Order: sequence, then structure tokens, then C-alpha cells
Amino acid sequence: MTADASVSKSGLGAGYAATASEAYQAALRVIEQVEPRVAAATRKELEDQRSSLKLIASENYASPAVLLTMGTWFSDKYAEGTVGHRFYAACQNVDTVEALAAEHARELFGAPYAYAQPHSGIDANLVAFWAILATRIEAPGLAELGAKHVNDLSEADWEKLRSKLGNQRLLGMSLDTGGHLTHGFRPNISGKMFHQRSYGTDAQTGLIDYDAVAAAAREFKPLVLVAGYSAYPRRVNFAKMREIADEVGATLMVDMAHFAGLVAGKVFTGDENPVPHAHVTTTTTHKSLRGPRGGLVLATEEYAPAVDKGCPMVLGGPLSHVMAAKAVALAEARQPEFQTYAQNVADNAKSLADGFLKRGATLVTGGTDNHLVLLDVQSFGLTGRQAESALLDAGVVTNRNSIPNDPNGAWYSSGIRFGTPALTTRGFGADEFDKVAELVVDVLSNTQPTAASNGPSKAKYTLADGTADRVRAASAEMLDANPLYPGLTL
Ligand code: PLP
Repeated sequence: MTADASVSKSGLGAGYAATASEAYQAALRVIEQVEPRVAAATRKELEDQRSSLKLIASENYASPAVLLTMGTWFSDKYAEGTVGHRFYAACQNVDTVEALAAEHARELFGAPYAYAQPHSGIDANLVAFWAILATRIEAPGLAELGAKHVNDLSEADWEKLRSKLGNQRLLGMSLDTGGHLTHGFRPNISGKMFHQRSYGTDAQTGLIDYDAVAAAAREFKPLVLVAGYSAYPRRVNFAKMREIADEVGATLMVDMAHFAGLVAGKVFTGDENPVPHAHVTTTTTHKSLRGPRGGLVLATEEYAPAVDKGCPMVLGGPLSHVMAAKAVALAEARQPEFQTYAQNVADNAKSLADGFLKRGATLVTGGTDNHLVLLDVQSFGLTGRQAESALLDAGVVTNRNSIPNDPNGAWYSSGIRFGTPALTTRGFGADEFDKVAELVVDVLSNTQPTAASNGPSKAKYTLADGTADRVRAASAEMLDANPLYPGLTL
């Protein structure tokens, strides 16, 4: 399938642009009455997003329908609890939107159960971890002690159970091969909750070695096997991950925060679709899924009752206005156009990767088959930090990222991560992404590290005169041809 710009653009609400313009113009006039600087910054943010190449793999552009849904009085409502079972009165309308978000999520992903309350991906992961601990450790622990509720335990028994809850193991993908900080790493709360061990990727191919994951699982015997990533440019075989989990008695948790849009859009099917294989699947709603900032948890019937207790277990009161926007975004993702969009995201990533390779650049794993590309910038003589800053000078918005065995560590790093979800939403196709590769290589080839007093600096650089202007002019042509929110005027 080739990129179809008209379909992608309709996802931005082109069909109701005039009405959305009226709504935003009125909203900004209201905000101006109270704090004009916020209104000005809001206008400027749209201007900046319209005039730069947004290549951050975790970002997208939500439709005006999704954005407008967040600006309502649902924001004012407390709704601790779950649908039909709240600790506050008058939640009938919150019940409606939360039930709709959950229903759309179940239908879209074919999941037995969906929980729409997590405020973000990190929160969704915390809900999942506690649900797994509650189901696998706390519930059997209580049964063993002949108790129904934690409040029924003596101080001594509670201490025993608490120490068991805090003494479990988690196996997840290593940070430098693309795993996420919330997958059991020490600086994050998950690393304080679990004994963590990592699996990496094959040193030659850069791909996940399932035999090595199985060997690590057999040796470490984790309670939780986590699959999912934020910077791995390849697909994962979740059927194999489930086999490994089953063999060692682990719960398979998949964090599909980055690629949920490719699952929703049926680009990842069969073994590459995590939902039928995982016990618990978590996601964000704002990356490739193109919804509001937020999270979701999908689960089997076994884990559903514990996930349902996410608030107030680890979540603050649900953001009803955001759950309403999740319902709208998930309704959009159930339209056939979203499948075309998702396929375009993957096709465009290939085009971007091929564009880099044919210009002599080095990619981690040698390419991509998802929505992201990880460029190793060492061959340009740069750190990730220098490359990220030089690209930003030229209006190319990316983020630096570690690569496997990164010699520059996580702060300076040696990689740049690119993602195609946002510009695909604008309507960019294969040709534009090839041009993006050309512009990136132009910037990096014209960037020199600057010497510091103790050797080459890892942060400072100089960009050759004229480069930024040349790249901005070429970008502007593509951005003007693929406007962000076409027809929307402020
Ligand atoms: N999980 C993964 C794999 C991610 O990449 C991210 C964020 O980038 C998160 C979780 C956290 O999401 P959030 O920023 O919404 O908390």
C-alpha cells in the first residue's frame, strides 16, 4: 500500500475545519480575557508545530475533535472508583464516557477487558504491575492465611505478605537496546518494586534473540516477563514471548505504548499483535494511536478485577475529560481510514530508513519494520546530543537516544531516534520521507564537534553557514504542501 495523503489529512478533521476554527477562535478570545500570555503561547505553539518537521517517535497530532473534547466541564468532576461503582455522587455522565472508551478499546484491540483511567503510559504500567502482584502474590497469600482482606491480617502476617510482594522478579528489555525505564530499572519505582534483570539483542544483528530470552527466563524465573520498547526499530514475536512466559510460569506483560497505532491499524497481526498473547497489555493513547495524552490497560478476565482497582491503588482520580477524549480517539481509530494511516506510518518508516542507507548512514539493526528508525551518528563524528541540537537549529525536531553498548552513555548518547507517526498524519508520503533523510544527512554532514578544554566536547558543535536556511527552506515546501490542520485558522 502506498501513502494516501488525503486519507491521512481527513484524520486531522479537514471535514469540519471551519467549525473547529470557530471553536478555537472563540476559546482563545475567552482565554485572552483572563491570561493573554497563555492565549499567545497557545497560538505560538500551533505556529511552531506547523512550521517544523516533527520526527519525535512518541509524538503525533490529535484531531480537533479529540483536542476539543478535553476542554470541557468533565474536567471538574471527581469520579474515583469504576463505572457504576463510584465513591462520589453524580457520576452518571462520567460513567457514559468511561464505558464508551473501554468499549471502543475492547472492540478495537479484541481484548476481553479494558481500563481507560491511567493518566499516562507510566501510570498504566504501574497499574499493570500492581494488578499482577495482587493477582499472583497478594490474593493467594491472603487465601493461605485464611483472610479475605488485607485489613483482616495481624501486623506480623501483613509484614510477611508485604515482604513477599516486595521480593518478586521482573525480566525486561535492556535500556540500551530499546527498553523503557519503567520496565524495572532502578531510577524508576518499578526498579525499587522488583528484582530486575534484562535481556538484550543479538550483538551481530541487533535483533531480539528469543533463545537468549528463554535461557535468561529459565535461569532467573521471573514473576513478570515484560516485552515492548521505546527505541527498538523491529517487530516482536509475542507468541514466542508467551511461550517463554508459560514455560517459566511468568505473567506476560506487553507495553505497546509506542506501536499501539500499528496494532489498532492491523499492521501488526498474528504473532506480532500482543493483545491475544499477553496476560496484560499497557499502552499510551497519544503516540502512534493519535489520541489524547493518556494510558490504557487491556487484560484477560483473570487480571481484570485487580486492574479495575487501579484508582485509588496507584492512580489519582480519573481525568474524565481525557477519558472522553480517549473515547473519541478510539472511535476514530476504529474507522477504516486508520488502517490506511497505520500502513502509511510503517511504509514511510521504511522509506526514511532506505533514504538514510542509500546516503551511507548507519542504522541500528540495519533498518526498520515498525514506525521508528534509530540512526547511529558516530559515523558523522557526533554525539546524539550534538546531532539533536544541530537538527533542531535547522527545524528538524527529533530526540537523541542510546544505541546498544553506547560509548557516550544515556545523556549524550550516540543515536537519534526518528518516528513517522506525526508527519504521516500531516500527509507526508514515501517521497517526502526520502527527502527528510536527505535533509538530515545534509545537516549532520555539515556539523562539526567543537573542541573543549579537555578534548572534543560532547555537547558543543558548529553548523556550517547556510545549512539551517537551506534545510528550513526545503522543509517549508513539504510542510506547506501538507498543512497541519488544513483549513483551521485562528
Ligand atoms: N512505555 C513506553 C514503552 C514508552 O516509550 C513511554 C514513553 O515514552 C512510556 C511507557 C511512558 O509514557 P508516558 O510518558 O505517557 O507516561
